[in-house]
Amino acid sequence: DETEELFTIEESLKELAQLADTAGLMVVDSTYQKLSTPNPRTYIGSGKVAEIKAAINAYGVETVIFDDELSPGQLRNLEKAFGGNVRVCDRTALILDIFDQRAATREASLQVALAQMEYQLPRLTKMWTHLERQSGGKVKGMGEKQIEVDKRILRTQIGVLRKDLESVRKHRKQYRTRRLSVPVPVVSLVGYTNAGKSTLLNQLTGADVLAEDRLFATLDPTTRRVQMKNGKEFLLTDTVGFIQKLPTTLVAAFRATLEEISESSLLVHVIDISHPLAEQQIDAVEKVLSELDASSIPKLMVWNKVDKASNKEEIKQKARDLEDTICISALKGSGLDEFCNAVQEKLKDSMVWVEALVP
Ligand code: GDP
Repeated sequence: DETEELFTIEESLKELAQLADTAGLMVVDSTYQKLSTPNPRTYIGSGKVAEIKAAINAYGVETVIFDDELSPGQLRNLEKAFGGNVRVCDRTALILDIFDQRAATREASLQVALAQMEYQLPRLTKMWTHLERQSGGKVKGMGEKQIEVDKRILRTQIGVLRKDLESVRKHRKQYRTRRLSVPVPVVSLVGYTNAGKSTLLNQLTGADVLAEDRLFATLDPTTRRVQMKNGKEFLLTDTVGFIQKLPTTLVAAFRATLEEISESSLLVHVIDISHPLAEQQIDAVEKVLSELDASSIPKLMVWNKVDKASNKEEIKQKARDLEDTICISALKGSGLDEFCNAVQEKLKDSMVWVEALVP
C-alpha cells in the first residue's frame, strides 16, 4: 500500500491515538508488531494477542483499535480472544464514528449512515455466532439464516438511504447552479484535517464556522463571500479535511461533497507548518486530490500557523524556494492581505485561461 510509506508505523499510531481522543476515548497504551504477513485469523500473532489481553486486564480496557482495516473474520476472532465486553474496531470504524458525531446537515448524516451500513454489511456475521453456540449445534444454520435476513434488511435500508440522499442532493445542486450563475469565482480550501481551514475562512469572512483543535471539525461544505479591499469578490468554500488511509466507503459516500472541489477555479492548499509531518500530510492531500481528478486545477500553497512554528527561518527559506507559496497565521490574522492578493493573481491566471478557450 503506497499510503503506508508516507507515515511510519509510529507516526500513524500517534495519529490514530489523536483520532481516538477526538472520538472521546482515552488512550492508555499503544503497540505494534512487525510480521512478514498479517496472521489471517487474528491479524497479529498469538503472542501479541496474549500481551494485549494482559494490558486489557491491567487497565480495564474497553476498546482495542487497529490501525489497518481488519477482515470480518479477524474482527470476530480478536473479540473472542480478548473476551467479554471488549470492543475491537479498526481505523475505518473509528473515523466513521467521528464522522457520525460530527455530521451537522441532513446530507452529511445520510452520507455517514450510508458509509456505516456498507461497512457493516460484510461484518454482520459477528452478532449471530452466539445463537449457534446457545443451541449447542442442534439448530445449526439458524444463525446463518438470521444473517441472510439481516443482510436483506440492511440492503433495503441502504437502498432507502441512497434515494433520500439523491433527493437532498438534487436540492443542493439547484442551489449551487443558482450560485454558479453569479459570475464570482469559487475558491476551495483543501488540506489535511486540523490544518486551519475553518480558522482561515472565519478570519476572512467573519463567518462563525466551527474551528476546533480536533480532527474533522468540518464535514459539510461551507461557502462564504470574501470581499477584498479593492471591492473584488470571490467565494470561499471550506470542505471536509483529508487524512491518510481515508476509508474508501467514506470517500465514496462523500464523493458528491468532494466533487465540488473539482469544480472550483482555484484550490487553496492549507498546510500546518508547525506539524512535524507537514510534508507527508501534503502528499496525502495531493493523493486524494488526484483521486478526485482535481490535480489540474490551479493551486496556491498556504503555509499556516507561522506563529507556532519553531523553525521560522527554515520555512521562510523553503517558501522562497517554492513558487506560489504564502505564509500566514490564520489565528493571528497575519499575512491575510498577501493571501488575498495572491488569490486574485491566481484567479487572473485562470480567467485568462478560460477566455482563451472561448472563441
Ligand atoms: P481545519 O480542520 O483545517 O478546519 O482546522 P481548524 O480551523 O479547525 O483549526 C485547527 C486548530 O488549529 C484550531 O485549534 C485552531 O485554533 C488552530 N489554528 C488554526 N490556525 C492557526 C494559526 O495560524 N496559528 C495557531 N497557533 N493555531 C492555529
